[in-house]
Amino acid sequence: MPRFRIRRRWIWIGLTLLLFTVLFNVWQSAIKKNRQKPVGPFQIAGNLYYVGTANVTSFLLTGPEGHVLIDGSYPEAAPTIIESISKLGYNISDVRILLNSHAHADHAGGLAELKAASGAELWISRADSDVIEAGGRGDPALAPLKFLQWLGVGTFPPAKVDRRFADGDTVRVGPIELTAHVTAGHTPGCTSWSFPVWDGERELLAVSIGSLTILPFMSLVEPETYPGIRQDFESSFRTLRSLPADLFLASHGNWFNLNRKMRERAHAAKPVDPFVDPKGYLDFIAEAERRFRETLAEQVTKPASSSP
Ligand SMILES: [Zn+2]
Repeated sequence: MPRFRIRRRWIWIGLTLLLFTVLFNVWQSAIKKNRQKPVGPFQIAGNLYYVGTANVTSFLLTGPEGHVLIDGSYPEAAPTIIESISKLGYNISDVRILLNSHAHADHAGGLAELKAASGAELWISRADSDVIEAGGRGDPALAPLKFLQWLGVGTFPPAKVDRRFADGDTVRVGPIELTAHVTAGHTPGCTSWSFPVWDGERELLAVSIGSLTILPFMSLVEPETYPGIRQDFESSFRTLRSLPADLFLASHGNWFNLNRKMRERAHAAKPVDPFVDPKGYLDFIAEAERRFRETLAEQVTKPASSSP
């Protein structure tokens, strides 16, 4: 009898493990499917197109001498981006330069595959380049999660960086010209991009915000997540506020109300372009700065509990 009981226990353990594995796989494939879900693709204005996925953005800037692609989304999303580019009538092999908002898996994950498919040069800010080449390892903000990174969480296929640029550098492909604004804090080399877009008669200035998010483990007080993080955030707010943005873009769609603007444009009853949104741009920066001041005040009063 005891032997029968032991056997029964093992059967239960086996069945529980099997159920756990099945549920884990279902959950993982649902996540992957969501990461691959395309949005659009569609023309935002002039030579600027949306080729990203649901809520994680990728932008294509087209030109007669080749194109520029900003952000590679998750690793699983690279085929979706390539397909979106081809649906618009363009070819991934005509992308000459690949850019990135910051070295996190949801924006840099697909860069290696996109680089291989396009043969493009990958340009990354100096401070984020090593993390991109290490596939997400070495990010100071994720240091408390090192164990999870060892299991692969937050990592992505490493991509070789061809050019390491500094704040204020310009990227040119034919008539396309983008300016790099290193708006650090979220990562040490987090980059926002500004560039003119020619839309018929008008020239619009597009600004894509890298990120202004303070992650849960980040410390803005001593010991800082990385030396200078607090000053970096402060100067990022100043830099972004100083840009006269017409087209408000960002690395996540919900930050600039992508879905609402797409709906509004589809049902537009008036000649107003919802993507031209200088007020939304300034409001977003103001709200991010308010959250920064709030977190900073909390961490100044209770530094021990908020330090990583
Ligand atoms: Zn991020």
